[in-house]
Amino acid sequence: MTKRDYYEVLGIEKDASLEDIKKAYRKLAKQYHPDVSTDKDAEEKFKELSEAYEVLIEPSKKATYDKFGHEAADKSFSSGGFQWSDFTHYSDIQDIFGRDFFGRDIFSAFMGGAQENRTTAQRGNDLRYDLYINLEEAAKGIKSEIYVPRTELCPECKGTGAKPGTKTKHCYVCGGSGQERREKATPFGRFVTVSACSKCKGEGNIIENPCKNCNATGRTRTTRKITVKIPAGVDTGSHLRVPGEGDTGIRGGPTGDLYIVIHVNPHQTFKRDGKDLSMDLQLTFIQAALGAEIEVPTLTGKAKLKIPSGTQTDTIFKLRGEGIPDLEGGTTGDERIRVKIVTPKSLGKREKELYNELAQIEGKDAGVKGFIGKIMGDGKGNDR
Ligand SMILES: [Zn+2]
Ligand SMILES: [Zn+2]
Repeated sequence: MTKRDYYEVLGIEKDASLEDIKKAYRKLAKQYHPDVSTDKDAEEKFKELSEAYEVLIEPSKKATYDKFGHEAADKSFSSGGFQWSDFTHYSDIQDIFGRDFFGRDIFSAFMGGAQENRTTAQRGNDLRYDLYINLEEAAKGIKSEIYVPRTELCPECKGTGAKPGTKTKHCYVCGGSGQERREKATPFGRFVTVSACSKCKGEGNIIENPCKNCNATGRTRTTRKITVKIPAGVDTGSHLRVPGEGDTGIRGGPTGDLYIVIHVNPHQTFKRDGKDLSMDLQLTFIQAALGAEIEVPTLTGKAKLKIPSGTQTDTIFKLRGEGIPDLEGGTTGDERIRVKIVTPKSLGKREKELYNELAQIEGKDAGVKGFIGKIMGDGKGNDR
């Protein structure tokens, strides 16, 4: 697949301002967000859009892209697939979707903290976890135990990076600021350049006895078990924020959040359409003609369905309240049962006789006596 030009994806000119890029993104995100769009390619388009935006909004990535196009872009910043990065733009569209299913603002987490500033505290990364559940679980709600890999404060050194019992020292080169100022006198005046301190790499501290557990980084990678409660009524694309369960912050910064993204697996019997479920029910010609009482599956068990005589194919019966609960506490959806009348593929001898009789009655009634009878075989061996 050839990749579309990022500017083309956003529908903007190459010299568009940051504001224009944001504006274009917001407009299209509103249109293609998989949670709201009915476009069948919505997810694909949203991905494409997010990727384009991620690159163009970041001056350094934009510059690389402008210079080298997709080729460079692919190598340097596209990780492929639907990644966590797609979520980092939610701060820009919080006016559209700024509410999770508990009515909280879920996007505030993304505001701030993203900027690279070596010596100040930095918020930990937000993490994404994709949770796959079945339709029954989505309807009932579940408590699920998940295992999330993340970085945590090193328990040995409590994040200092120094061997327990030893201390970090203020960097003598930068005096603890993490920055090195260089002044240069030129014929045009004095120039000051500020860069990350070469001794402490911008940390402001020097570790003389590094912590062995974390290699002086102050952080360790662990997998943590987290129990989450998934409310009844979730659907694919619903997301749940678990505050403080993301990566640990840097230099005392706050911990990021964990976002659990729900995927509901397809069901063998039922199709889901929002809160409603639907299924096809096969009836024989006789059941449909004479009427019947049929046992039908529901998501929680079985129900009796009365088929009135003379039911036509494609008739839909509704089992009220047998669908999916409303996430926001509204009425529960319905189960819709669509009748499909099946013609018998083969008939026994007696059945054939009876159908022939029926055909003759029908023929008489319709004034085309014997016509169907001939097609079906007249029961005297002519069809053999
Ligand atoms: Zn440590
Ligand atoms: Zn320093």
